[in-house]
Amino acid sequence: MVDENKEIIESGTFLNAYCPHCDKSLLEDGMLKLKIHNGEEGFLMLSPYLNVFTSKSTIFLAEDKTVKDIRCCHCNRSLISADKTCEKCGSEVAKIAIGARTKLIDFYICTKKGCRWHGLSSDDLIDIRLQDSLEW
Ligand SMILES: [Zn+2]
Ligand SMILES: [Zn+2]
Repeated sequence: MVDENKEIIESGTFLNAYCPHCDKSLLEDGMLKLKIHNGEEGFLMLSPYLNVFTSKSTIFLAEDKTVKDIRCCHCNRSLISADKTCEKCGSEVAKIAIGARTKLIDFYICTKKGCRWHGLSSDDLIDIRLQDSLEW
């Protein structure tokens, strides 16, 4: 049974991503752009479409290894979440803000290369679902 009050974000939806600290858009040239620190500094570009997992990085990232820090390109503050970890592999997650139908929601992405877990905060799961999320 479908709860009609629940917003479902479908696969392929364009995610309007913002920094949760400075509220600036994280999108640049149609990609979600994040600053990464992994011994050296670089940029990680992710597809802004839900469940489309293309990505590229300006520095080498080993498969199955986590990125040490993910930061906002504008304010340089860390996006690593202190109170949540990946529900699939237990790694640290980065938190960004996503514009949903009626409000901005917290959106988490795993810092481990190759892990495709992403999710919402438990508060937002009350009225929003991601299509093809682990709950289904
Ligand atoms: Zn910022
Ligand atoms: Zn993970």
